[in-house]
Amino acid sequence: MNPKLSKSLSLLAACGGVLLSAAAQAQTNVAALQAKIDQLADTVEPEVIANRRYLHQHPELSNREFETEKYLVKKLKAMGYEVQSGIAHTGVVAVLRGGKPGPVVALRSDMDALPVAEEVDLPFKSTVRSTYDGKDVGVMHACGHDAHMGILLGVAHIFAQMKDELPGTVKLIFQPAEEGTPKGEEGGAKLMVKEGVLTSAPQPEAIFGLHIMTKFETGQLAYRAGGTMASADDFTVVVHGKQTHGAMPWNGIDPVVIGSQIVLGLQTITSRQMDLTKAPVVVTVGKFDSGVRNNIIPDSATLKGTLRALDEGMRQQLHDDVQRTASNIAAASGATVDVDIGQESAYPVTYNDPKLTARMLPTLRRVGGAGLVESPVIMGAEDFSFYQQQIPGLFVFVGVRKPGASLDEYAPNHSPRFKVDESGLKLGVRTLANLTVDYMAGTPVVIAQ
Ligand SMILES: [Zn+2]
Ligand SMILES: [Zn+2]
Repeated sequence: MNPKLSKSLSLLAACGGVLLSAAAQAQTNVAALQAKIDQLADTVEPEVIANRRYLHQHPELSNREFETEKYLVKKLKAMGYEVQSGIAHTGVVAVLRGGKPGPVVALRSDMDALPVAEEVDLPFKSTVRSTYDGKDVGVMHACGHDAHMGILLGVAHIFAQMKDELPGTVKLIFQPAEEGTPKGEEGGAKLMVKEGVLTSAPQPEAIFGLHIMTKFETGQLAYRAGGTMASADDFTVVVHGKQTHGAMPWNGIDPVVIGSQIVLGLQTITSRQMDLTKAPVVVTVGKFDSGVRNNIIPDSATLKGTLRALDEGMRQQLHDDVQRTASNIAAASGATVDVDIGQESAYPVTYNDPKLTARMLPTLRRVGGAGLVESPVIMGAEDFSFYQQQIPGLFVFVGVRKPGASLDEYAPNHSPRFKVDESGLKLGVRTLANLTVDYMAGTPVVIAQ
């Protein structure tokens, strides 16, 4: 063992710990940086809340975040960041090169709101209306992306104030269209990756992100290693039968009956074909369209649904099983099917790199304290997964439900009654800032005994 390492080990052992200080950490006074982050998190908290409220009152739909983009550009330029805009339509990338050498770390916030009319009575309530899928709709930050932007702007301001001591480069990614794009458009994380946010200089080697959730109470920080949020693939099955009179079904091939068998058959994929001891999967048919009248057997039936998995191998198996099950049930009655999977949305599994998660766990423990919890798997999807397919990434959840309050009062994401306890946002700021700096400095590694 080298003498330096042995010295630091014995020093730590003397404190009763079993921590090994990484070499990079020795060169940087990480404790001082951590203390400064926590102190600056207090000072930026009012502006985190103010930015969040402004953005809450001015929500914009996916791929239409034009004013949001301008707002972010103005704020980030004023803080001294190198700013690029117009990425993946309205995305913004802001870079700050620290005064000390070190790795490049990316942090991501999403930007878009949802076609939801707000029902929460707030002084900064959204009254914005827009057009979605040809319909006039209310627009609301019902998924909390306003808070994510407020948090990341707060983190940006902290780093701007400690630029000289920062041992690396931060690359902030403000991403449009996390909720999906309007029909026929590209967008979101997939397009950000395609346009090179992870491959252009400065090239990040890890990425961190978070989502606020009313599922967790204020003060709670939730994480999970491995598959954390599900993949989401839409699917469509068109059953081609043969039209006939409802009184004489033997003259045709009834796509309504065959479609119904397929709906039930697809349920046997989850219950009989997948190894659920490995991870859960979900197959849901949410739409069944066929026919125009009670006594006419139509030519075709269309089923639409969603597939969820937490493991990329099981995700692929789901695709194969849906295709095989639908085709063979149809064939049994002389019908044919067209199966399309992932045409409208295909999000991979949000997979927290186990090594990165283990490496950052001491940071999460320190920042979250007694509020750190292990998250259950979440069957909702997140396009943060596209970044994680390229580089190791860690995505965590921050609680924003007042302790003791019900989920009725603090409704879940996407509800018109989605409400945020803003006193929870500072934990999000501290989490992203500390993950970044600890990663750059080389986090302590826990040695198994
Ligand atoms: Zn959402
Ligand atoms: Zn969201």
